[in-house]
Amino acid sequence: MLMNNRPFGWVVKSPENLVPVEAFIRDKATAEKFLATGWEVTEVAIAAESDVRFHEQNQAYYTLVEHTNTTEQYLDEACELLSEIIKSGEAYRECTDTSSPTGKRIASVVEYVSQFLPEPHESSDDTEQEEWHMNPCHQGHRDVGAACGIAQCNRCGESMSAPTTKEAFERWNATHAPAVV
Ligand SMILES: [Zn+2]
Repeated sequence: MLMNNRPFGWVVKSPENLVPVEAFIRDKATAEKFLATGWEVTEVAIAAESDVRFHEQNQAYYTLVEHTNTTEQYLDEACELLSEIIKSGEAYRECTDTSSPTGKRIASVVEYVSQFLPEPHESSDDTEQEEWHMNPCHQGHRDVGAACGIAQCNRCGESMSAPTTKEAFERWNATHAPAVV
């Protein structure tokens, strides 16, 4: 009889006199049938949560080690390339020629490095934000600002929210008079 707890499933192996077959079965009744006909049946338990976490951490560790090794290889290659370029005028001339051996090696290093560079970000938002000038709050405080969809006074806490920061800013200015100079 198979144990009555809730395993993940069963691995069934054909007896030695038959063609070797190995299969994974989720259905207990089927597993029982295999067992009854002389197959080797091994219970696969559900891994405890802590086991899974341990396994995941191990996996992450090995991925990191692998990544570090790859990076070291590319660093070595970059060092070697640099010293060759310094030593030989030929290598130096080949630098910008992507079809040359040196050019190809440089392209490979650059390609590896480029995947870790941050995406160039649009600066248009920043410049736009710089142009935003908020009118003072109803009490006349000028320490006002807009962020995360909320326009507010940092002194008295008066605030207006909107789906976007720009909208909050626009609503604020539409309902607040400009500062009297
Ligand atoms: Zn205020």
